[in-house]
Amino acid sequence: METCSAILNVLRDVVKPTGSFIPLHEPTFAGNEKAYVDECVDTGWVSSAGKFVDRFEKDLASYTGVKRSVAMSNGTSALHLCLRLAGVDSGHEVLIPALTFVATANAVAYCGAIPHFVESEEQHLGIDPEKLGAYLSEIADKDGEQTINRKTGRPIKALVIMHTFGFPSRIDELKAVADKWDIAFIEDAAESLGSYYKGVHTGNFGLVSAMSYNGNKIVTTGGGGSLLTNDDALADKAKFLSTTAKEPHPYEYVHTEVGYNYRMPNINAALGCGQLETLDEFLKQKRALAKAYINAFEDVDGADFIQEPAGTVSNYWLCALRVNPATLQDVLEKTNKEGIMTRPIWKLMNKLPMYTHCPSMDLDCAEVLESEIINIPSTPKLGLPWM
Ligand SMILES: *Cc1c(COP(=O)(O)O)cnc(C)c1O
Repeated sequence: METCSAILNVLRDVVKPTGSFIPLHEPTFAGNEKAYVDECVDTGWVSSAGKFVDRFEKDLASYTGVKRSVAMSNGTSALHLCLRLAGVDSGHEVLIPALTFVATANAVAYCGAIPHFVESEEQHLGIDPEKLGAYLSEIADKDGEQTINRKTGRPIKALVIMHTFGFPSRIDELKAVADKWDIAFIEDAAESLGSYYKGVHTGNFGLVSAMSYNGNKIVTTGGGGSLLTNDDALADKAKFLSTTAKEPHPYEYVHTEVGYNYRMPNINAALGCGQLETLDEFLKQKRALAKAYINAFEDVDGADFIQEPAGTVSNYWLCALRVNPATLQDVLEKTNKEGIMTRPIWKLMNKLPMYTHCPSMDLDCAEVLESEIINIPSTPKLGLPWM
């Protein structure tokens, strides 16, 4: 059968459309979310302080095994503070994947720094550590504690890795590159709550890491994010900066530097506490859905369902296919027309108008992935046996 029709048939078979539109990923509220939000409204504790913010921070830390979590207004603000805490400042360069969501690059720009785009590899969909290592040997010099881009003369301050769709990157190899060059190592773990690398939850490996709870993520707080770190001093500083850099005082306004209003409101954290209670159930359903897709796509020529690499556990946040670029537009058109949402992966960051001038290494593999990957419906309940 022709590839496009075969893909459409598999999607129909797995997601069983009943006439209503099937989105890529919709939020699921099946637990205590409503009761916790009601409690905020009833008590008046809806804003930037309250018991749910503290509880959400503790619950997330215990779930991920990261020592400290600081709740933020969204994942982008968490990433911005990750970079600030790693010392990223105006005129610095930050290595990030070209194949990522735009927030990774924007957070770098917020610091007045310059994103420097690096190549992906096709097993984990993260940065290619071997190619990055070779590239740095070619373009960078160590100057005391600093690593300088010889071509631009600017310091390369940090490496931000990103766990695409929940597939953990090759973290050990990437960390070794960062360590070799004395570059701060940061995880954009916005997509990987519930994903593990060699048995350890993502977000544990960076000096600091960022998570997101936007409406389409595996767990949502409406809008929200966290900065994660195993370093108490950095966590304290993150909390301070995210609460307008206000020094503790019983009644006066005391601010000692330019801070941010990045704190997660209590009403959002209430939603998050309920969501975390059901996360393990979401993960089970998503794994069942991935399994159904794996079986169903096995016999389809020209479409490969992307599976978690050995040594990792993926949350399967967004299920993804690699399809022949010649049929990709056709697949997108026909599936969306039928009310089954599919979407191509992001455009490479170096092609966006505000980032075309930024430095970049060769992106041959990222280009291929950009031309082949689409996301398919991934809402947890689609994995339930009676759906
Ligand atoms: C969702 C996401 C973010 C940003 O999170 P927001 O909460 O939407 O600000 C950052 N990076 C990646 C890779 C993401 O997928």
